Amino acid sequence: MADAVGAAHDALTSDQPPGGATSTDMVTYHGVGKLYESRRGEVLALRDVTFAVERGQFVSLLGQSGCGKSTLLKMTAGVTGITSGTIEIDSRPVDGPVDDLGMVFQTPVLLEWRDVLGNIMLPLEILRRRHDDGAKRAQELVEMVGLTGFEHRYPAELSGGMQQRVAICRALMIDPQLLLMDEPFGALDALTRDEMAVELLRIWEQTHKTIIFVTHSIDEAVLLSDKVVVMSPRPGTVALTVDIDLPRPRTADLRYDQRFVEFSHRLRSAIEQGRRRRDSDAEGSAPGAEGQQPTGINIGTS
Ligand code: ADP
Ligand code: MG
Repeated sequence: MADAVGAAHDALTSDQPPGGATSTDMVTYHGVGKLYESRRGEVLALRDVTFAVERGQFVSLLGQSGCGKSTLLKMTAGVTGITSGTIEIDSRPVDGPVDDLGMVFQTPVLLEWRDVLGNIMLPLEILRRRHDDGAKRAQELVEMVGLTGFEHRYPAELSGGMQQRVAICRALMIDPQLLLMDEPFGALDALTRDEMAVELLRIWEQTHKTIIFVTHSIDEAVLLSDKVVVMSPRPGTVALTVDIDLPRPRTADLRYDQRFVEFSHRLRSAIEQGRRRRDSDAEGSAPGAEGQQPTGINIGTS
């Protein structure tokens, strides 16, 4: 009886929001949709996207080109409007640009005329934050990503992987709680890409940021994530979410683990199903329909 009273008390006093979200959730997507209206007509990019990202979690959005992954990230950052449903960060609905987050894109977009430290410290100037400890923090970040000795080099003097490390530092400069990464290793060669994935694992384990990571590599998604959200195209929606409960800390060798292979297989099947569905939809529609886009999905172990 006492237990029942205790449970009722807990239920009444708990700060859990409604709708299946829990108090550990940091970002929640509830019935999110996006309709683009352009001169060429309307594009329903996303429909009824619902999932949650817990604080400190590493969550990957996995799916083919065109299934709305970038759109979802941009809506999360508040730089693209939401046309239906809600996105909440720390229980606050996103309705404009979000300050406390970092973004990393496929290309590092560094300022050519600034050196490594100058690029990393840029967000402080843009957000007009105090600089007092800025140089010290930038130096710590440089050390964390293994760029010590390159502080005063210019982007043109750095390899693609090094430039992307600078972009990661720049995103972490304001110490955001949330990091959004849109195919950050997509422009790198395969070996550098593998190396950067392991590097990101280490950074995440050190910083405990909440990361939402867009990729079309199944291998990357399984290696890095706590949870993978598989998106299916046209309109983009959640096909499957899979908790990747492989032990941490993880290393590149985890790829040879039987359970890793099983997770990869499961994700690949979900993507293939989405692809088949899309192809059969395209067959039923007029020629020249959007189904002609390259899929861009990497179903090998990249
Ligand atoms: P992904 O990142 O998964 O490749 P996107 O979010 O870039 O997908 O795009 C999803 C869909 O929305 C695509 O069909 C794309 O053509 C369309 N789209 C993206 N941005 C715009 C825009 N600004 N105007 C119209 N359609 C857009
Ligand atoms: Mg994209």
